[in-house]
Amino acid sequence: MLLRYRVGAVVSLAKHQNGGAKTVLWTSKNFRTQSGDATFLQAVDFYFDKAAAIASVSPDILAQIKACNNILRVQFPLKCSNGTVELIEAYRAQHSHHRLPVKGGVRMAPNVNGEEIMALAALMTFKCAVVDVPFGGAKGGIKIDPTKYSLNEKEAIMRRYTSELVKKKFIGPAIDVPAPDYGTGPQEMAWIKDTYEHMKSTDINGAACVTGKPLEEGGIHGRHEATGLGVFFCLREFLNDQDLVKKLHMSPGVKGKTFIIQGFGNVGRNLVDCIQRAGGLIMAISEKDGGLVDETGKGLDVSSIKEYHTRKGTLCGFPGANTIRDPAKILELPCDVLIPAALESQVHSENASRIKAQIIAEAANGPVTPSAEAILEKNGAVILPDLLLNAGGVTVSYFEWLKNLNHIHFGRMSRRMEESGKKVLLEALEQEFESKNKLSDDLRKELVKGNTEIDFVWSGLEETMLVSWANVRSTAERKDCNYRTAAYLIAIERIATCYRVNGIFP
Ligand code: NAD
Repeated sequence: MLLRYRVGAVVSLAKHQNGGAKTVLWTSKNFRTQSGDATFLQAVDFYFDKAAAIASVSPDILAQIKACNNILRVQFPLKCSNGTVELIEAYRAQHSHHRLPVKGGVRMAPNVNGEEIMALAALMTFKCAVVDVPFGGAKGGIKIDPTKYSLNEKEAIMRRYTSELVKKKFIGPAIDVPAPDYGTGPQEMAWIKDTYEHMKSTDINGAACVTGKPLEEGGIHGRHEATGLGVFFCLREFLNDQDLVKKLHMSPGVKGKTFIIQGFGNVGRNLVDCIQRAGGLIMAISEKDGGLVDETGKGLDVSSIKEYHTRKGTLCGFPGANTIRDPAKILELPCDVLIPAALESQVHSENASRIKAQIIAEAANGPVTPSAEAILEKNGAVILPDLLLNAGGVTVSYFEWLKNLNHIHFGRMSRRMEESGKKVLLEALEQEFESKNKLSDDLRKELVKGNTEIDFVWSGLEETMLVSWANVRSTAERKDCNYRTAAYLIAIERIATCYRVNGIFP
């Protein structure tokens, strides 16, 4: 791949939906994973090509869909609290403008690089298309270890990053809308919003420039839990499907199944709750400095572990479970479902043959390399792919964006109206049937309850995940391919339809 690279400059910002020139600023340095597997970007390209080969789309449009439109690299100084000045490196990639705005998280990690951000931006394009969220794909990254910086320093970094994005037109409610990702959360999103609104004070839709914000700053109920819950909805559908689990010699249902989770951050922590509530057994959890393995056969006590992890900043040493210092070993323990929820390329050609799980649920982006996928599938395992499975985050971000553009929260205009309508109906029924046994006050309250914002969000999320899963499942059957190829195929054909209907801006 021969790409041009210039520091701190935007070569091309596509202004029109279909007319985005494809000048890219990043030089591929062919980063290799330790195991010699494909890099993350090469893996995304490989998965794309596999689906493209069976898509009814012409090669020129496929090339357009595959390429990354723009990547911005910025470097800026940070005045550290000890008086020194540090150079910070950061990125924002906009993969596809076939729909606007483009959307994708911002991560903070020491290994952030342009290739990784391009791969993540491409995944966002395909993910949005799979779950029918009307956005193009983007991603941002700041190359720092956030644990090494004070709150004030992180705020300075985030504000300066945002101001660079504003100056280069890489952020805005109709242009590009960041969200949390690895190493960032609601606090960082609040700084982005505040900085944007200061710089664009006349933009009445300023709050919609970023999602995943705290509730008080225009966030939405349920965004925090959304990715984990979305993963759970799809996983539950798969496990409840008698025909599919029969092929793996399993009984249907979540109850009694064993799970291992890699990464105890936003996605992992929320997911374990859903699994436990449904009767699943969490047999091991790993963090980057080590993990915990259940010794009782009944599953880990997740709520005590959460409390311990919040207090100590580590899982290691939690009493009542076995601590394993090498987190990579935890992936190889026996279980029904392995859920990587940390970073990319975690299951690779070296460890894939030792993975015992029959189902790999990709809560993280890009956790399985193509070589590992081939090994796992040869051994009979099924992979539920990232671009479907973790799309709950962007789905609820879409709801938050809609809420911000509407300047009103879901349910505010309808809740009481729904309740009074239901009360009238209940009273009419009671009169009609002259029942001596009146409904209890509690049951009456439950029956007439109007929908609040969280009800709309959960319902919209579940609908999105289940419809998308059904579509991926049936496409995989129809095309006789795996779920990943089916998901990419759906995405490619939807984006191609967009180009066909809209045409190409000259
Ligand atoms: P997070 O920063 O909240 O949590 C990730 C956790 O993984 C951290 O606690 C980190 O210490 C741990 N970790 C890092 N390396 C590890 C290793 N080798 N072994 C075990 N644990 C390790 O990040 P997150 O938001 O939960 O995101 C996790 C993954 O999910 C990323 O791939 C991200 O792109 C993806 N994702 C996140 C969202 C979202 O809404 N947050 C949405 C879609 C996809």
